[in-house]
Amino acid sequence: SYRKGGYHAVRIGDQFAGGRYIAQRKLGWGHFSTVWLAFDTTTSTYVALKIQKSAAQFVQAALHEIEILSSIADGAPSNIKFVIQLIDHFKHTGPNGQHLCMVLEFLGDSLLRLIKFSRYKGLPLDRVREICKCILIGLDYLHREHGIIHTDLKPENVLLVSTIDPAKDPVRSEIAPILERPEGNINAGVTNLIEKRLKRRARRAVAKISGRKDSMVETGEAPKSDRNIDGVDVRCKIVDFGNACFAAKPIAQEIQTRQYRAPEVILEAGYSFSVDMWSFACIAFELATGDMLFTPKVGQGFSEDEDHLALMMELLGKIPRKIATAGAKSKDFFDRHGDLKRIRRLKFWPLNKLLIDRYKFPENDAHEFSEFLLPLLDFAPEKRPTAQQCLQHPWLNSKDSTPS
Ligand code: ADP
Ligand code: MG
Repeated sequence: SYRKGGYHAVRIGDQFAGGRYIAQRKLGWGHFSTVWLAFDTTTSTYVALKIQKSAAQFVQAALHEIEILSSIADGAPSNIKFVIQLIDHFKHTGPNGQHLCMVLEFLGDSLLRLIKFSRYKGLPLDRVREICKCILIGLDYLHREHGIIHTDLKPENVLLVSTIDPAKDPVRSEIAPILERPEGNINAGVTNLIEKRLKRRARRAVAKISGRKDSMVETGEAPKSDRNIDGVDVRCKIVDFGNACFAAKPIAQEIQTRQYRAPEVILEAGYSFSVDMWSFACIAFELATGDMLFTPKVGQGFSEDEDHLALMMELLGKIPRKIATAGAKSKDFFDRHGDLKRIRRLKFWPLNKLLIDRYKFPENDAHEFSEFLLPLLDFAPEKRPTAQQCLQHPWLNSKDSTPS
């Protein structure tokens, strides 16, 4: 993919935007871009530099993402804290073409890594509550203040932040002066030094957050970053607005990553903000148990879609006939009675029982957590609570863990 129209090859020390940003190391990549840790020489801070592939369709996608990000950067400062901030954007010309670049605030590990570091056993419920609150404040902000549907909410797309004052961060104050030297001095040695320190701190932080012993974390794979998760008070932000849309003009018909996809999307019955609430419930379950809520598979004689609908019904009860038959694709899956055509026998296993039987939740916890999740998993999208309503739910406020 490092060819005309593709990724831009970056070397450590490369300069961008007339020397303002200096590349440090790769943070990650997606199908559209590579993302780099960069030092912003103007503000003396670290930023994430997202460098898009250069072909026309990727430029289009980046322009769309920039439009959404610019719009959400404009809002009440208290809520803005729960969505990623676009700092800057510019064009960069390289051997493979002209690349749109987005400068984003530098964040830490994703919730997916947090789940991984719990050895897929789930996080303590107090942690789950804190994270849920952050996501909900972010969603409420997107939905109500900007009319934006995220459409791809999943653990990968929620990144942790530190509440530590960056100016007092010892790693940064040690490294920053070295980085500010001329380009020639930014060599592999410096990068290794940063890497080592970041890894050590990241292990400690993840151990703290995931409720596991530091020593257990050390035996696992080290997280790729970051000093930024070294906060006790967990905070996180919603990221990746590449697929987001304004509710008033939805773009794609097939949205959301499979496991987090709402039933109305599968049925092609139209969608709105409530698709994000469905995905949110799937994330909350995954944080608490370490398992995805739904993992549909293709089977003999049935599709992944049909299995997905069957799994939903086994957990949540039958989809009301009116809803089941109302989508453009309903006829592919349901007969006129509202029964699945190819999966006839369902094994009902309600959420409450699942939490107790499989995940060994104490009865009270299981009951309270199901009461929180089930309304979000209503087959009727308009009946799902909004993010604002969900924030009022007693389950979230049963402990004092308000994110600041
Ligand atoms: P794409 O649109 O190409 O899928 P993403 O925005 O999903 O790109 O970013 C790719 C990866 O880069 C992410 O999965 C994450 O690991 C990393 N990343 C993205 N943004 C940040 C950020 N602000 N801070 C730290 N890492 C980031
Ligand atoms: Mg992505």
